[in-house]
Amino acid sequence: MTGPRYRPADSDDAPRYSGPRTFMRLPYVQTTEEVDVAVVGIPTDDAVSYRSGARFGPEAIRSASILLRPYSPALKLDVTEHLSIVDHGDAPTAPGDVVETLKRVASYLRPLHEAGVVPLCLGGDHSVTLAELRAAAAVHGPLGLVHLDAHADVWDSYYGLRYFHGTVFRRALEEGLIDPARSLQAGMRGTLYGAEDEAEPERLGLRCLPWRELRALGPDAFGELARRVTGEQPAFLTFDIDFVDPAFAPGTGTPEVGGPNSAEALAYLEALTGIAFVGLDCVEVAPAYDPAGITAWLAANACHSMLCLIALARTA
Ligand code: MN
Ligand code: MN
Repeated sequence: MTGPRYRPADSDDAPRYSGPRTFMRLPYVQTTEEVDVAVVGIPTDDAVSYRSGARFGPEAIRSASILLRPYSPALKLDVTEHLSIVDHGDAPTAPGDVVETLKRVASYLRPLHEAGVVPLCLGGDHSVTLAELRAAAAVHGPLGLVHLDAHADVWDSYYGLRYFHGTVFRRALEEGLIDPARSLQAGMRGTLYGAEDEAEPERLGLRCLPWRELRALGPDAFGELARRVTGEQPAFLTFDIDFVDPAFAPGTGTPEVGGPNSAEALAYLEALTGIAFVGLDCVEVAPAYDPAGITAWLAANACHSMLCLIALARTA
């Protein structure tokens, strides 16, 4: 057989709801040989400030993802024809110790980057992105960043703690993991402690589009801007599910009302074509607050869109 080595199970042979839950019914294989993309769960939520539960995010996204089919009409692409994708299992964590978890996750992901594999990670709370950026930057150097979120996550500390889901991008800047000139945050909204909070990303040198500006811009212009900001060098895409309005994605730890709906959120993601993403994630899915499973469905589809972005960047 020609084409990618690893593909999802054939749903014509066995019904989608049968078999163990892997992402998109992909083979559970912990190898880097003949692999383009490794889906990795990062089940941890020790770094949250409000509602916990994102440690069950990977499990919920995997369960929801069994309904995903290979072809995206929006991006006109069958991901399984272009990419060899595996479910690489879960990264190791140290429950109760955020700093140690970050070390273990980065150590787990680094060999993937060294082998030229793109990790698509399922959080976990947003602190996991710092570990992902450490692993990616160790191999690729300082990265461009596209960050979709209701929050900028640039606090210096919270409760006196530096490693937290709200301090990720401040730490990433301090550690030289991202290039501020090639970074773009978008979707920020909700109440703040003061006007200075909204100015903080720009003060750190990050380009930041609050949701009111992103909404006025629209997906196509946003995609253009993101391509211009990130350039052609390696970049990272992080999608915090709370970017989406909690009416559509209630299963998350720190919901902020008045955001994009599901269709709009996917359109903003799918506008990010032509960017050399070497790492991607979908974080902050907390299934305990997601009684109808709608947040996990959206997260699974967002991950499918991200797979399409990887494939399109490679075929361009
Ligand atoms: Mn976040
Ligand atoms: Mn957030």
